[in-house]
Amino acid sequence: MAKNAIVTGSARGIGKAIATRLAKDGYNIVIVDACPIENSQETADEIAKLGVATKAVRCDVTDSAQVNELVESVKAEMGSVDILVNNAGITRDGLLVRMKEEDFDAVIAVNLKGTYNFTRAAAPIMMKQRSGRIVSISSIVGLQGNAGQVNYSASKAGVIGITKSVARELAPRGVTVNAIAPGYVETPMTAVLPDKVKEAMLGAIPAGRYGQPEDIANAVAFLCSEDASYITGQVLSVDGGMHM
Ligand code: NDP
Repeated sequence: MAKNAIVTGSARGIGKAIATRLAKDGYNIVIVDACPIENSQETADEIAKLGVATKAVRCDVTDSAQVNELVESVKAEMGSVDILVNNAGITRDGLLVRMKEEDFDAVIAVNLKGTYNFTRAAAPIMMKQRSGRIVSISSIVGLQGNAGQVNYSASKAGVIGITKSVARELAPRGVTVNAIAPGYVETPMTAVLPDKVKEAMLGAIPAGRYGQPEDIANAVAFLCSEDASYITGQVLSVDGGMHM
């Protein structure tokens, strides 16, 4: 029976590339996003052409009741939850002294609490199955900080904390838990940055090119593969050498 993968924030950007790559590897895909359902359905329909089953669900990762219901329904309707990719994320950038409390709270709610909500919902199912893969998308900013992103860096460092703690809890049950720390990836999230910032970023990337969503998707696919069954609690940088 085909295995099932839940990818959050996967209507577009990095999440969509991850969902597409996992479909190519034969997984049925659950597209989870807060955007209008038509957008997620469009992505799901595109991925279904690869020959796997897909399901598009509108769900806010910050809402634990919605998350629990969704994960339970995947288990009930599709039979198992084999992969969870916590990818949904937002930015609300600003220097510390000007940052509004609501912008701090919003970023923590989506990036950190959202990761907790989905991991909490999927873990009991994976433990019972005695198999599963959880991959969460952190950031280079969670490793080294960034001026203007105190909220985002705290959330992404927190994702690493969740990853390492849950990895220790679930390792005896055959479930691996890892994080990926992308550098600068060309997506709608980064498209809005001023050209000056983009040029400065490029200068800081030893590989001499921006990351593409597929670069992240390839790393997720590896961590979800059988070849990675002895890798857990790790943070894999995928950043063209930006952070060493
Ligand atoms: P995008 O903004 O392109 O995509 C993020 C997706 O997450 C959107 O579809 C968005 O939906 C969805 N989302 C936002 N909030 C919620 C929510 N509350 N519940 C469910 N879905 C939600 O971002 P990227 O593809 O660039 O980023 C993906 C991940 O990678 C993020 O975690 C990001 O922090 C991380 N990352 C990105 C980097 C980059 O350079 N791009 C670098 C390092 C890490 P909606 O349309 O409703 O907003």
